[in-house]
Amino acid sequence: MIIGIVKEPEEESRVAMLPEAVKTLKSWNVEVMVETDAGKRAFADDALYQESGAEIVDRSTLLQKADIVCGVQALSIAEIGSMGPKSVLMGQFNALYNPELTHFLIHESRTAFSMELVPRTTRAQSMDVLSSMATVVGYKAVLMAANLLPRFFPMFMTAAGTITPSRVLILGAGVAGLQAIATAKRLGATVFAFDVRQAAKEEVMSLGAKFVEVEGATDDKSAGGYAVEQNEDFIHRQKEAIHEQATKADVVITTAQIPGKKAPLLIEERTVLAMKPGAVVIDLAASSGGNCALTQADQTVSINGVSIVGVGNLAAQLPQDASKMYGKNYLNFLKLIIKEGQMNLNFEDDIVSGTCVCHEGKPVNSRITQMINN
Ligand code: NAD
Repeated sequence: MIIGIVKEPEEESRVAMLPEAVKTLKSWNVEVMVETDAGKRAFADDALYQESGAEIVDRSTLLQKADIVCGVQALSIAEIGSMGPKSVLMGQFNALYNPELTHFLIHESRTAFSMELVPRTTRAQSMDVLSSMATVVGYKAVLMAANLLPRFFPMFMTAAGTITPSRVLILGAGVAGLQAIATAKRLGATVFAFDVRQAAKEEVMSLGAKFVEVEGATDDKSAGGYAVEQNEDFIHRQKEAIHEQATKADVVITTAQIPGKKAPLLIEERTVLAMKPGAVVIDLAASSGGNCALTQADQTVSINGVSIVGVGNLAAQLPQDASKMYGKNYLNFLKLIIKEGQMNLNFEDDIVSGTCVCHEGKPVNSRITQMINN
């Protein structure tokens, strides 16, 4: 069996698997093909892949010959059409929100797995690319803020006087938010955080940050640990609390998301206008509508001296470790579908079925089935 690792589009510097992952695949008795320059932007050149046992090939050879084609971003529809008819496509296609691609895969009787669908269960944690990339993004967001801020993060007591620590506010304390808290604390900032899930409070406090209390959040246990939409009264009180905290902050990092919904609006225009000049807002929810009213996706805007960064693909700015984590997640998943060097798709396994967009054209993941039937 042959596993192929494709080169990503121009704007993507990660690669699905680094040479170290190729070594593991080889030890499973699997052949590996890597597209020319696939790892170049993640600082893994072709020679390193060759040393690990991979064959370097051009894109069309890889697409025709590989039994499993692995990438980070989705391939174009035309390219999927040029893959072998029985080969399996893997990547992170955002399948639930990319109906054109999902319908194409089904129509063309393809088998495809989309890594963002990996169930968020304890057993699947080691395959969870969303968590891995949220870790990268939370860390990098703080560094980006520290670079833009015209102040120090830590407190300094110097002969030239005392510098007070910066005040950082993190909105949304999920995987990215908790990593942002930890990173901002390491840099010496005073950190405040807010989340609608009560479970987040303990995690925030255990990292040494202060939790901003807003009473009366709806915390739905049936949402599987995720946040749900809040009622009008809560939203109003939450905006007031955030307004008060944000106007004292030097940096605000927003990460709040609700699966399948537009990101909640947490920072209103009046809040930005009342913030300190020089303050920085990093909006990690920019691609799903933004948590700040003035965010523009993939752009940095300056309003009254406040920089607002509408973050795009931040994980691609740390390509080496992001690819390392991605590759490890991939290997842990591939372990479930490869036995003795051959493909072995066991749909009784909830991780295999949960991650599968479609098998030979039949939708497998229950949310994909629902999407197709609607
Ligand atoms: P996410 O990216 O969907 O959302 C980020 C955060 O925003 C969440 O903490 C959410 O509660 C918060 N949020 C949503 N609306 C908000 C609002 N109006 N105001 C303030 N905050 C708001 O979440 P995520 O980081 O992917 O993870 C969320 C949950 O999933 C956590 O409980 C996490 O522990 C759990 N999780 C479990 C696994 C696993 O078991 N394999 C893996 C990853 C995450």
